[in-house]
Amino acid sequence: MDLKPKMRPVRVAVIGGGASGCMAAITAAQAGADVHIFEKNEKPGKKLYATGNGRCNLTNLHMDDSCYHTRTADKNGSSLIHSAIERYSPADQIRFFADLGVPVFDRDGYVYPRTNQAQTVVRALEKRIAALGIRVHTGCPVRKIRRSQQGTKADDAVFYVDCNDREARAFDTVILCTGGMAGPQYGTTGDGYRLAASFSHKISTPLPALTALECRGQFLKRAAGVRCRAAVTLYTGNDKKQIREGREEGEVQMTDYGISGIPVMQISGTAARLLESKQRVFVQIDFLPEFSDSAFSDEIERRMREDRSQMLGDLFLGLVHKKILDLLLAEKGLQAEMKARRIDDAGIRQILQSMREYTLEVIQVKSFKQAQVTSGGIPLEETDANFQSRLQPGLFFAGEVLDVDGRCGGYNLQWAFATGYIAGLAAAHYCRV
Ligand SMILES: Cc1cc2nc3c(=O)[nH]c(=O)nc-3n(C[C@H](O)[C@H](O)[C@H](O)COP(=O)(O)OP(=O)(O)OC[C@H]3O[C@@H](n4cnc5c(N)ncnc54)[C@H](O)[C@@H]3O)c2cc1C
Repeated sequence: MDLKPKMRPVRVAVIGGGASGCMAAITAAQAGADVHIFEKNEKPGKKLYATGNGRCNLTNLHMDDSCYHTRTADKNGSSLIHSAIERYSPADQIRFFADLGVPVFDRDGYVYPRTNQAQTVVRALEKRIAALGIRVHTGCPVRKIRRSQQGTKADDAVFYVDCNDREARAFDTVILCTGGMAGPQYGTTGDGYRLAASFSHKISTPLPALTALECRGQFLKRAAGVRCRAAVTLYTGNDKKQIREGREEGEVQMTDYGISGIPVMQISGTAARLLESKQRVFVQIDFLPEFSDSAFSDEIERRMREDRSQMLGDLFLGLVHKKILDLLLAEKGLQAEMKARRIDDAGIRQILQSMREYTLEVIQVKSFKQAQVTSGGIPLEETDANFQSRLQPGLFFAGEVLDVDGRCGGYNLQWAFATGYIAGLAAAHYCRV
């Protein structure tokens, strides 16, 4: 006969049913915990449907420390990111989904569900959540988490979760998975910061990242709608100091307010942080990124030898989209229909040079509504390696609510799932001393 007292399962409250919340709940339940998810929306996983343009870029096979950024990056901060991705790697992410019955495929390292449908991912998570008997409270925005006086309650609970006017429920641990502020239309309006602040956590100012850039430019509208291969580089101040991590290449989209596209999104977090620190920010566009310096010099020489009786549009034909050429010429007071003899060799060189390094001043980054991720949040130095609060034992964090933002390309979901896994496992084994 087993005379050992039966331990009741650890009661875990997961606040937020997004990527990290679903993962934290599944992991904690699989480890034997009694898990409840509280989700503000009518259904968990609302943002997941929108990820990867409805295809859900789950992770990326190219992974190193430079794929993530934290603003509270002391040595501890960056090593926490590194160890989290080591403990739950892209290979683990792929295995996890295979186990849910969702095989994946990769394109140049970018991993998607085989069906190319984000809804497959959401449904697979829902199925596992139901199979594990996790209780999901939807339409349930958590407004407050209270801490009981330890040991004074008969049920020995540590936390009480207040949601709507329903009676508060008691838990041993809480995992805050409320996301950041990017995509407020999906339910992420920064609630997690307020809840964490009630336990004395500091919040590193949330800023939009992976978003478009609004730029100053009198003639910008002329190029609106153009999509072209280009490289973008960030600069600060008047001395044109280049930002080291700031050069990205890919398809850039010209818009009536500025520029967008994946390379622009990749530099937007850095731009947001520089603007926040009151620096002037410039972006230089190289519309001819595939030209080496010597090939570009040859091109200049060749165009200078062209017949000047032709139109300017013909002299510069074939290098950039017609609307881009119109924009560059307009900035010099010229038009494509004018005769090329209007400009001398220096003028030709200048226009070609502007195709190579067209500079725009960034006024602001597009808002949280257009952003894919939040830069800032709960500082990593306020958590341990399991993302448990150093200020309130039993309180854990996972996902975007933490001060970590990844590059575009599956890195943010990898972070959400990795931290959900780590926090979920630790919460399930949480034991008060
Ligand atoms: C349009 C778009 C496309 C994206 N595409 C990709 C992609 O393809 N690949 C990639 O890696 N990343 C992508 N991202 C980023 C990625 O989706 C997020 O970083 C990730 O979902 C964060 O996971 P999370 O669990 O921390 O937060 P979320 O997934 O945002 O979930 C947080 C949940 O908490 C709930 N919540 C908030 N407050 C409360 C409260 N008080 N009470 C109860 N519930 C609450 C919210 O309703 C939400 O459901 C994309 C983001 C957007 C906006």
